[in-house]
Amino acid sequence: MAYAYDDKNIFAKILRGEIPNTTVLETEHSLAFRDINAQAPDHVLVIPKGPYVCFDHFAAEASDAEIADYTRAIGQVVAALKVGPGDGGDGYRLLSNAGKDGVQEVPHLHVHIVAGRPLGRMLQPL
Ligand code: 5GP
Repeated sequence: MAYAYDDKNIFAKILRGEIPNTTVLETEHSLAFRDINAQAPDHVLVIPKGPYVCFDHFAAEASDAEIADYTRAIGQVVAALKVGPGDGGDGYRLLSNAGKDGVQEVPHLHVHIVAGRPLGRMLQPL
């Protein structure tokens, strides 16, 4: 696996405080903020603070502490939004795009949490 992280990407700039964001949650290793082009009433991006391009990069190279923090942060955002089915919410979708076919726009790992309306099927049929 060979990933080269480009620290000029927009989320790196957000992490350095060079671009404003609407923060939902900040933890030691993670930051969650609202997507600037929301696709649903709730659309939150959760990113690790470390320099990881996409999920498999993170899974291979992040520390156990970073992985635990990131996973918990995602759960905490879902809880804060009150959309988890276990909390009586109507549900949500978690997705993370990678690379060309995944149509990843920003090369810093991010998970989208999308909720607040019926989201339809995950993919369009071929
Ligand atoms: P991707 O296609 O890489 O999975 O999604 C990137 C997401 O980042 C898009 O949903 C886009 O709206 C969001 N985005 C791009 N630039 C900014 C920005 O400057 N601020 C915020 N909050 N979101 C952004």
